[in-house]
Amino acid sequence: MLTLKTKVNEINKVGMAIAGRLRRLNIKTVEGVLMHIPFRYDDFSNTAKIDELVAGEPATIKGVIELMSSRRARNRKLTITEALITDDTGSIKVIWFNQPYLSKMFNKGDEIILAGKVSGELLAQQMNNPSYEKVKEITTHTGRLVPIYSTTEKLTQKQIRFIAQSCLPALDNLSDWLPDTIKEENDLIDLAEAIKQIHFPENEEALKIAQNRLQFNEIFLLQLQQQLVKNALNENNAPIIKFKQDEIKDFVKSLPFTLTPDQKKAGWEIIQNMDSKNPMNRLLDGDVGSGKTVVAILAAYSAMINNFQVALMAPTTILAQQHIQTIKKLLPNNKFSYCLLTLKDAFLYKGNKITELKKKELIQIIKEGKVDLIIGTHALIQKTVEYDNLGLVIIDEQHRFGVDQRKALRDKSGDPKTMPHFLSMTATPIPRTLALALYGDLDISLIKTMPSGRQKIITEIIPPLDRTKSYEFINKQIHNGRQVFVICPLIDPSDKLGVKSVTEEFTHLNDEVFPHLNIGLLHGKLKPEEKTSIMEDFKNNKIQILVSTSVVEVGVDIPNATVMMIEGAERFGLAQMHQFRGRVGRGKHQSYCYLFTDSDTPKTISRLKALVDNYDGFALAERDLKFRGGGTIYGTDQSGFGNQFIVNALQNITLLKKAQTAAQNLLNDNPKLKQYPLLKKKMDKIMDKMHME
Ligand code: ADP
Ligand code: MG
Repeated sequence: MLTLKTKVNEINKVGMAIAGRLRRLNIKTVEGVLMHIPFRYDDFSNTAKIDELVAGEPATIKGVIELMSSRRARNRKLTITEALITDDTGSIKVIWFNQPYLSKMFNKGDEIILAGKVSGELLAQQMNNPSYEKVKEITTHTGRLVPIYSTTEKLTQKQIRFIAQSCLPALDNLSDWLPDTIKEENDLIDLAEAIKQIHFPENEEALKIAQNRLQFNEIFLLQLQQQLVKNALNENNAPIIKFKQDEIKDFVKSLPFTLTPDQKKAGWEIIQNMDSKNPMNRLLDGDVGSGKTVVAILAAYSAMINNFQVALMAPTTILAQQHIQTIKKLLPNNKFSYCLLTLKDAFLYKGNKITELKKKELIQIIKEGKVDLIIGTHALIQKTVEYDNLGLVIIDEQHRFGVDQRKALRDKSGDPKTMPHFLSMTATPIPRTLALALYGDLDISLIKTMPSGRQKIITEIIPPLDRTKSYEFINKQIHNGRQVFVICPLIDPSDKLGVKSVTEEFTHLNDEVFPHLNIGLLHGKLKPEEKTSIMEDFKNNKIQILVSTSVVEVGVDIPNATVMMIEGAERFGLAQMHQFRGRVGRGKHQSYCYLFTDSDTPKTISRLKALVDNYDGFALAERDLKFRGGGTIYGTDQSGFGNQFIVNALQNITLLKKAQTAAQNLLNDNPKLKQYPLLKKKMDKIMDKMHME
């Protein structure tokens, strides 16, 4: 008997060869087949009369075979099967390539249904390679919405459809894990029915209803997962960090600039949030240069005046060092000590003194609580590092801090009964809908406006013909002492780090365009110390042009850089390019962003134009989400259904709200899901997978 777990090669008529091709699509079982849902449908639901056919349009016709024969083409590599099909309004010629068996399958006089695109002129129309079926057979392939699947070499749509059709009986034993009450309240159909309809929809309406159910699944599970994480977090106690208003106000007054309203609001939200025994889990989201660091320092300050230790973790050594520089400027002298701990460095800053230490010594100092603020890289969560009374952990440029990493930190926080408060910072503008759906377990503070006095970065799209002119301009900028970034995209997906393209560009610029300049090359395959040394050289203007991939952290502050050149701009997301652009214009000089593209399709140009006209990262991210799908940008592919499906689901705000409410209500009544064993099993699996990441 066919079950969901049956291996594909055990499906009737599926041999080892086809099983192998299915495996390439990551389909191994009947369940896999059923989860491989169509990405679109051809609408063949209305049969047309032959005299109504329009060239270029898809159509389904029903007629009688007048003639049918196969022959070899002159080059002998090709068989051509020709047929003449007639209905009561006229005749049409039909051609199939390399399907000689067709002339054996059908006989003159058989009634047949054909679905395909009509080509040719009005009087000589024909159909090439249409789907076909004898009228008596069940109309799986024609006569309705025809599912189109993503596929691989030597696996035809028709074969996948046949296999999917063969798997449907396994759905009889599928138990729906979604509680009935939720289905009733939200007008959702049964899971088995939804899967059946998503493969072979009876009509548009049925398809919509099926999609609705499956999209609800995705969002609901995501919401449930986040609520569970949130609840688990709230079972921990956090240290209460008192909001000492007067001292905070004095500190704000002591800063070298006035905080923007958004910075004040974010800072206030964070400090309030920490004055609670529930652990804070908050994301601070603001564009590059919007001034997140000072807000983080404000939070750290509040913790430190309450005698708590604070850890600030950055993704790279360069960024950690940069935080040290900022903190030097912003923290009042002598009051608090801080240190830098990376895999290599160990420095202690106390009063006006900087001491280089052995790592072991610094780790001991941290453990004894003799330093207030610990800044570093992932070294901060190494086994050997322990804290004394850790109250707040700040993480830069990482949206999510894993549940397990949190646990690890709690265990070394100096008080295993409490979990420190968490603040993550990101410059990736996350559209509201996406934030709601993906980060439901986080509270979010936004910095939307930039500190005043920021210059607009002049942005231009550069067509191939104007390239030389841009190079001349760059030459002039460098002649005047400025510096330039060049960002290259991946050329082919196999080259995951983009090393190939960046190396080619480097060689081209270095040998041909700017042989008189010093050019640096930065990509993800370099060793950390090589990266650091190149960044140092760029910072000190020993390198005038830095050619880099996007995978490399470019979060560094080079106020002297005034030109951001983006190669292959059509390949990047808008929000991502906006971030690149934020790397220039950080000093007093007018800055420029040039988008190089060889593509001149109206779609590309209008998309790039959005960047020219728009300086709001959040708006650009929304646009990205619409045009490219969020999955590619945010790595949301958690389900079996593929990215685009989820993205569509996430854009359905009504459904999103419903799923959120349903998840909340369910957990309020049933915090451990005990009443719903099927759902519980499913969630356990998802949570396990999450811990593995
Ligand atoms: P990001 O949000 O990208 O991390 P930073 O925190 O590094 O941005 O801030 C960018 C620059 O803006 C820093 O040099 C910082 O000192 C400065 N800055 C931050 N807030 C303000 C403000 N309110 N007014 C003026 N300058 C500010
Ligand atoms: Mg920053």
